[in-house]
Amino acid sequence: MSAHEYTRLTRRTLLKASAVIGGLGAAGAVAQAPAFAAIAPPSIISTATWGAKPAKRALTTLKHRPTYLVIHHMDSANTSDFSVGAAHSIARQVQSWHFARGWADSGQQFSISRGGHALEGRHGSLRALQSGTSFILGAHVANNNSKAVGIECEGRYGTELPPQKLYATLVHLATYICQQYGIPVANIVPHRHFSDTSCCGDAFVAALPTLRSDVSKSLAAGRVIVSPVGSTTPPQPTPTSNYPLLKKGATGAVVTRLQKLLTARGHSPGAADGVFGDGTLGAVKAFQRAIGTEADGVVGPKTWGALEARAASNATLKQGSSGNNVRALQKALNAVITANLAVDGQFGPGTHSAVRNYQRSRGLTDDGIVGAKTWGALKGGR
Ligand SMILES: [Zn+2]
Repeated sequence: MSAHEYTRLTRRTLLKASAVIGGLGAAGAVAQAPAFAAIAPPSIISTATWGAKPAKRALTTLKHRPTYLVIHHMDSANTSDFSVGAAHSIARQVQSWHFARGWADSGQQFSISRGGHALEGRHGSLRALQSGTSFILGAHVANNNSKAVGIECEGRYGTELPPQKLYATLVHLATYICQQYGIPVANIVPHRHFSDTSCCGDAFVAALPTLRSDVSKSLAAGRVIVSPVGSTTPPQPTPTSNYPLLKKGATGAVVTRLQKLLTARGHSPGAADGVFGDGTLGAVKAFQRAIGTEADGVVGPKTWGALEARAASNATLKQGSSGNNVRALQKALNAVITANLAVDGQFGPGTHSAVRNYQRSRGLTDDGIVGAKTWGALKGGR
C-alpha cells in the first residue's frame, strides 16, 4: 500500500448506522441472505470489538453492489502470534497508519490476521455486507473504490505464502462476500490488477487461482471447501484456457473445436484441421453476422458464448433442470462470464448463481430463470 494508490473521498453522506453490529455469527443475523445461497457467514470481529477509533469524517454508503473483490497484503511483519489479541492489535495499527495518511478511517472494508481472525475494517462494512445491497466506499484501490470491496491480509507475501489459518478464513470470507454481492469468482483479483503495485505479493498472487477455485467449489457445494494454500488448481481446465481469444493464424486443438462448433451451427469453415485460415475466418464472420454482432473475425467471449448457447433450444431452464440444454447453458456462461461451472448438465446452486450474475451484468431481471430474454442475450453473443 502507499498513499498515492488511494483515492480521496469526494462525496460524503452521513452514515445512518451509528450502532455497530457484532459478529455475524449470531443465529438469525443474516435475515436477507439470498435464497439460492447456503454459505453461512464467517465470524467477523466488529470495529467496536477490536477497539476502533471513530472515523475522522463521515463515510459514504454506496447504494449498489461492488463487482470486484480486491485482495491486499498489509506489507507488515509475518508475526507468529496467531492470537485474537494480536488480531485486535494489528487492526488498530492499520487504522492508525491510515489516519496518519489523512484518511477518514481504515481504507479497507475487511481484514484477516495471520491467525485467521476476520475483522471489520472500515466502519459500517459488516452491516452493509449483511444487507448484500450496499457497501461502504473504501480507500484501497485507486480510481476503482466505487466498484471494489477489499480485504487486507496481515503479513508480507512476496516470497512466503500466507499461513493456512489465514487462507482458510480468506476462503470463507471471500465466498460469503461473493455470495452476498453476486461478485463473479473471476473478479477476485489482487490489488495489482488495478494499480501499479506489487500488492498482494508475488507468492500470494500465485496462490489466487487456488482461492478462486476454492470459492467456486464452495459456492457450488453450499459449504466452505479449503485446499492447502497455494496448491495447484484442479485438473479441470479453466474457462480461460477453454475459450482463448482466437484469430487468423491460430492453430491447435482449440481451433479444431471452434471449427466443429461453426460447422454444427451451419457455418462450415471447410476442414476441421486445427488451422485458423481464410476458410475459418469467413465462417467466423458469417456466424457473427448471423448473430448480429460485429463481424471482426476475432473469436472472443461473446462469439464463444453464442456458439455454445446455440446448441440449446429455447426451453425455459431453472434450478432443478437437467440435460443437454443445461450443458449448453453452462458452457455459454463459462465462455461469456468465466463462470467456472462444471459442465455436468445439472442446474444446481452454482449454475443458478452464475445465471443471476449474468442477468445482472446484462441488465436483465436476475431471477435465475433462463427464459426467452436470457437465451436471446446468450445466443446473440451479448
Ligand atoms: Zn494493496
